[in-house]
Amino acid sequence: MKSNRYKGNHNMKIAFLDRDGTINKDYPDQDWKERVIPEILEGTIEGLSRILELGYDIIIVTNQYIINEGIIAIEQYQEFHKNLMIILDQNSIKILDTFYCPHTEAEHCNCKKPKTGLIAAAIQKYPDIELKDSIFIGDSLGDQQLANKFGIKFFGINGLYFKNGFDSINEVMINNKEIL
Ligand SMILES: [Mg+2]
Ligand SMILES: [Zn+2]
Repeated sequence: MKSNRYKGNHNMKIAFLDRDGTINKDYPDQDWKERVIPEILEGTIEGLSRILELGYDIIIVTNQYIINEGIIAIEQYQEFHKNLMIILDQNSIKILDTFYCPHTEAEHCNCKKPKTGLIAAAIQKYPDIELKDSIFIGDSLGDQQLANKFGIKFFGINGLYFKNGFDSINEVMINNKEIL
């Protein structure tokens, strides 16, 4: 039996996941005004289930500059995200935590991916995170750049920026022998 329930050494391996375009469907910025119900992408449920079976905890890191740009209210972000958590929970998928950046580019924060603040905050909150055993799955160049800054193994999906990437989280999990 896999020993992910024995956390005697307290090392945590994390699957850092981008949200929009990775777990659920993404939209052009203005279209987010209407959205409170996530559309789960193909392969998300199966892929996240495999991730958990392998003993990873899942942390979502997501840029939400549409909040401070005034396209959506913070309450709408929270409602969408709560609905996402409900759908995942109904499929026995527990998300350990979510870190989001509400800032616009003009605010020059330190957390808008590929800046390092979101993962730095995760490490501060969960000091037992073992980055060398962790993975990062995302659909944009910023995700890849962020993963590289921390030396986290990165897998690009959905073909937007990654011509040789995978089509879904599940494909990443099925096709990579290096994920253990
Ligand atoms: Mg994305
Ligand atoms: Zn920020």
